Amino acid sequence: MIIMKTGATDVEIARVVREVQKYGLKADVSRGEFRTVIGLVGDERKIPFSHFAVLPGVKEAMMVETSYKLISREYSKLSGENGERRLIKVKNTSIGSDEPVFIAGPCAVENKQQLFKIAEGIKKAGAHMLRGGIFKPRSSVHSFQGLGANGREGAEEALSWLREAGEKFEMPVITEVRGETQVDLIADYVDILQIGARNMYDQDLLSAVARKKKPVLLKRHFGAGIEEFLSFAEYIAAEGNKDIILCERGIIPIGKGKSYTRYTFDLAAIPAIQKETYLPIIADPSHATGRHDLILNMSCAAIAAGANGLMLETHYNPQDAWVDGQQTITPDELESIIDACQRIRRDLPIVTKDE
Ligand code: PEP
Ligand code: MN
Repeated sequence: MIIMKTGATDVEIARVVREVQKYGLKADVSRGEFRTVIGLVGDERKIPFSHFAVLPGVKEAMMVETSYKLISREYSKLSGENGERRLIKVKNTSIGSDEPVFIAGPCAVENKQQLFKIAEGIKKAGAHMLRGGIFKPRSSVHSFQGLGANGREGAEEALSWLREAGEKFEMPVITEVRGETQVDLIADYVDILQIGARNMYDQDLLSAVARKKKPVLLKRHFGAGIEEFLSFAEYIAAEGNKDIILCERGIIPIGKGKSYTRYTFDLAAIPAIQKETYLPIIADPSHATGRHDLILNMSCAAIAAGANGLMLETHYNPQDAWVDGQQTITPDELESIIDACQRIRRDLPIVTKDE
């Protein structure tokens, strides 16, 4: 990491960037109100920090051990941005403010009528964004894989419904990208690209999605520690895309016996992650619990823990949903949850404070 002096000129900054590139690394230039900080991206072993320390305009050049420096609060504090939470603007809404954002929709898009009816219902309930799965990660190859499995035409048709529903009900739309071959196609249709829990470790997919320069929603793998989760988010930031929305969706306990929930909702990860990074983090009580009867309680708990928003699987008829019906709520239930969460956020403003 190279910290420039207050008042370092553009010419001095450009010189440092050129020198960094000479060593085969990329430079992430973060211009704060008072200072510019340059993060080195790549294999830092060959960098002679003493050489950089004496270049004009440089205050300090140092090796930073953490594997997620570009998204760390420390990095943004150095450039004078006070480590403030990043506000990610997506069309008519934004994630990262004190106002929680509610993302809802069916686990899987089934047909146009289903998607539009759900979109209308969640909009009325107060949701801000529409999510629908088109390429579904499934444990069995013999189960419904999402309409994206119906070849390119089937995928494009479903994606166009998603875009149309988003336009009609004035909500940004989001869907999961399951593999690198889908990146270009999906990025043409949606506002936010989701990386599912199973793909959190796919660094090539993370880089490919990041290069689309659209916000990325990254879900935590169910076996990943917090440091590991943030280290993989760093792959997105390393492509120059810091519009990253993190998502806590539950982890797997070690030990025998029934758990009674699909995963273990790691609520403490929410404030712990907010202390480490300026990126917003939302929670997914649907996959974390796998139980519609626990969604209200755990949504309130996640908001009380400081989550910047929630993602909730919603369907007008959960028992008929093709995928994940047991954890799906109705638009009416969504409305009550949004109302309860907004009241909690109003009454407990302290939970959103970072320090
Ligand atoms: C999903 O969000 O639809 C999903 C499959 O969740 P996860 O990747 O967290 O398992
Ligand atoms: Mn699901």
